[in-house]
Amino acid sequence: MPTHIATLIPGDGIGPEVVEATRRIIDATGVQITWEEASAGESVFKRGIPSGVPEETIASIAKTRTVLKGPLGTPVGFGEKSANVTLRKLFETYGNIRPVREFSGVPTPFSGRGVDLVVVRENVEDLYAGIEHMQTPGVAQCLKLISHKGCEKIVRLGFEVARAEGRKLVHCATKANIMKMTEGLMKNVFEEMAKEYPEIESHHIIIDNCAHQLVKKPEQFDVIITTNMNGDIISDLSSGLIGGLGFAPSANIGQGIAIFEAVHGSAPKYAGMDVANPTAMILSGVLLLRHLGELDAARKVENAVLATLEDGKSVTKDVAGQNAPVGTQAYADAVIANFGRQPSKFGARDYTALKMPLFTGGPVSVVAKQRATVGCDVFVEADTTPVALGDFLSTVAPKAGLKLKMISNRGTQVYPSRSGETDCVDQWRCRFMAGDAGVSVAALQTLLAEIEQGGFRWMHIEKLEQIDGAPGYTKAQGED
Ligand code: NAP
Repeated sequence: MPTHIATLIPGDGIGPEVVEATRRIIDATGVQITWEEASAGESVFKRGIPSGVPEETIASIAKTRTVLKGPLGTPVGFGEKSANVTLRKLFETYGNIRPVREFSGVPTPFSGRGVDLVVVRENVEDLYAGIEHMQTPGVAQCLKLISHKGCEKIVRLGFEVARAEGRKLVHCATKANIMKMTEGLMKNVFEEMAKEYPEIESHHIIIDNCAHQLVKKPEQFDVIITTNMNGDIISDLSSGLIGGLGFAPSANIGQGIAIFEAVHGSAPKYAGMDVANPTAMILSGVLLLRHLGELDAARKVENAVLATLEDGKSVTKDVAGQNAPVGTQAYADAVIANFGRQPSKFGARDYTALKMPLFTGGPVSVVAKQRATVGCDVFVEADTTPVALGDFLSTVAPKAGLKLKMISNRGTQVYPSRSGETDCVDQWRCRFMAGDAGVSVAALQTLLAEIEQGGFRWMHIEKLEQIDGAPGYTKAQGED
């Protein structure tokens, strides 16, 4: 009797071949999985479904909660959005787990160092929420959204990964030194939650130094928790340390849901040629087996892959070159034949099942004891000088009960001028402070009307909040 159920998406390009190799290996372990085959990607775009993900696939994933997915091509010319991103967003897979381990038999400049780390990347927030606006015809903006709830989820997942894998060191990599509110939120939540995992050593590291240290001494890292864009970059960097895309598996984790996929794409030039390296997909299958609690089978497959690569006799063209490479399916056969073997170096770790964090509650995750609106930033489009704009706004602001505090251009205070050196563009952030009356809607209406009557355009208003006695906004460079 089958004991598990999972959705199988063969995908595009080399996807069907690497997924088939993986499915055969998983089935050969004896673990009983009923695979529900479903489609997504190019074939679906061609059927005229713009999302690239049909309803029956969504229904299957909603039921099985476990997916083995081949790479999906994003065709140019039809299909507006990536079907991969649609799947991640639809099922809110907030955590991206990317293990990176040295393989004996796959030579790299780092061979022999024992690289063995996991990048745990936040997968849905940050700049990748994709909220962008043209503020003026020549100035674009992308909102970097980081929530306390989002940080809590990824930090907890990172510590649980460390526990499940017997790892004793966790770094949180952020740019909190510059982006104190957004990246700083991740750092603060990490430092707070680390107290719940006293057996694990925890450190914050600035992301640029983390990138530097990853290249200089990658073996010092164990688990790295990070925000979305930082994680995108350092997880690819980390894959490069151990042989590249053909070897990089991943898991996308959501609330009781997990999508396992290789990091690489559909490599269309190799489609149907039986030459693709299925290792990344097979190791994604190992992550799936672990997720299902099939730890012995996961270990058996991982060790067999490691032993096959170490032997070097039955490896694909990207590893063997012209030195008698084998095809995708023959490599899978070699892995199955190696069940029960261990590599002499860098064998599988001792894993326990990952405790998938579950979160309850509504949209509000933090309640302030005290809040007040103390001012507002109005973003104004103007082809003028800081002095002309500043003198005008200083004159009209009192009509709205407000006082112009400063104007910045791309983050640097230009009114009152500090250096006069800023190369200004036509988007100005104008900061107004309120008196005890705060900032009423009527005051804002008066201010915006005055700005328009002065011949300028406003495009965006941000309230300045005081939260629990601390400013909920940052100062401009040079602002006192
Ligand atoms: P790609 O498919 O990852 O291929 C880039 C190169 O990486 C290949 O030309 C090949 O290098 C090597 N490669 C990747 N996987 C390999 C494997 N299993 N075995 C051997 N070599 C492998 O990246 P792309 O060409 O930029 O993207 C192609 C399509 O995939 C695009 O439509 C893209 O949107 C999509 N994509 C999907 C996903 C996903 O589904 N998660 C991820 C990334 C990209 P050599 O040429 O040096 O042999």
